[in-house]
Amino acid sequence: MKHVLGLKCMLCGAEYAANEVEYVCPKHGNEGILDVTYDYNAIRRHMSKEKLADNHDYSIWRYADLLPIVNRQWIPNLQVGWTPLYAVPRLRAQMGLAHLYIKDDGRNPTASFKDRASAVGIVKARERGKDIMTAASTGNAASSLAGLAASVGLTAYIFVPERAPQAKVAQLLIFGANVIMVRGTYDQAFDLCLQASARYGWYSRNTAYNPYLSEGKKTAALEICEQLGWQPPDKVFVAVGDGCIIGGLWKGFKDFYALGFIERLPQLIGVQAEGSAVLVKAWQEGTETITPIVPNTIADSISVGVPRDAIKALRAVRESGGQFVAISDEEILEAMRVLGRNAGIFAEPAGATGFAGLRKLLQQGQINSEERIVVLVTGNGLKDVQSAIQAVGKPYVIEPTMEALHQLMTSLN
Ligand SMILES: *Cc1c(COP(=O)(O)O)cnc(C)c1O
Ligand SMILES: [Zn+2]
Repeated sequence: MKHVLGLKCMLCGAEYAANEVEYVCPKHGNEGILDVTYDYNAIRRHMSKEKLADNHDYSIWRYADLLPIVNRQWIPNLQVGWTPLYAVPRLRAQMGLAHLYIKDDGRNPTASFKDRASAVGIVKARERGKDIMTAASTGNAASSLAGLAASVGLTAYIFVPERAPQAKVAQLLIFGANVIMVRGTYDQAFDLCLQASARYGWYSRNTAYNPYLSEGKKTAALEICEQLGWQPPDKVFVAVGDGCIIGGLWKGFKDFYALGFIERLPQLIGVQAEGSAVLVKAWQEGTETITPIVPNTIADSISVGVPRDAIKALRAVRESGGQFVAISDEEILEAMRVLGRNAGIFAEPAGATGFAGLRKLLQQGQINSEERIVVLVTGNGLKDVQSAIQAVGKPYVIEPTMEALHQLMTSLN
């Protein structure tokens, strides 16, 4: 990894060689999250906008020169990334936003954004000769790790809270993971998983612990720049739970800025559910110290009471000149309906949360109609059908006759 300078602690700024530490800064336990640093001059010798234009690898690995991997040997074969960035004509017209785009990351192999991070985690495990990986997750990180692990023959031990939606648990079992359901919250499952990783030596795919995961997540930002012809958006809206995605996005935009591939940086808007708005509160109070809560929201993927990547997330929003916004569960359900009915995009509750945040700022008059806006949809709606039904209600039921149909049609008009 000649292009990687090392790992830098987000708390104390201490720097380490990549082979010196495995996960976190040894000086402050699990809090000292590390950030991968790069030698941009070295990278510029291999990577250019022109070379990317000729690159036919339509996956996150088109950016391998900017990822912390030794070589391509251990890359899993499932297609991760290069998800569509849709221009959405009907939504644009309705919302009066001339340059709105939606990036659908529900189109990844296990149907969520998490595949970007898992793919890099898998490579790091294989580079280290590890054949067991572990993760704690509200659902998507787990099903993602399980699927990618299955594709390369790694064993996965997964810790999920009891409340995880059934479809995500089904994914885990289909992919052959060892699923350990914890009678408790995601936050408790997370702590147990860290202890298990230390005790048994399993390679950890935990957000805000393993420093390489954010690097996978940043590829969405790299794709946005390239898909928009190197004209970055003004604002990017994304759902925030632990804060790893938004931190990763900021890293990606900054990487391309440092390389000179883009000339300005977008504002990042972090959207949280009111029932788990820990980072919204910290941001409003101007602190990096978070006050844990017991989360409660329909959006299970962002139902987090102790955001593990709080510092990266808060700095991403602050440095980008963006903001945090909180929305209600009702607004999330409404956003799911609007996305489905006007764009043909089916999002799980957390997947629609970024869009709900945009709707809120638009209502508040904070968005200008000419702004270039990208909204990330982070997970597919089939992952949580129960919430979808809650958002849209039930179908009509009739007897199999024309008479019954006609009666229905009349009653509808
Ligand atoms: C994990 C996840 C998020 C939030 O990502 P964080 O890194 O925890 O902030 C949002 N949406 C979906 C669908 C997710 O799975
Ligand atoms: Zn440190």
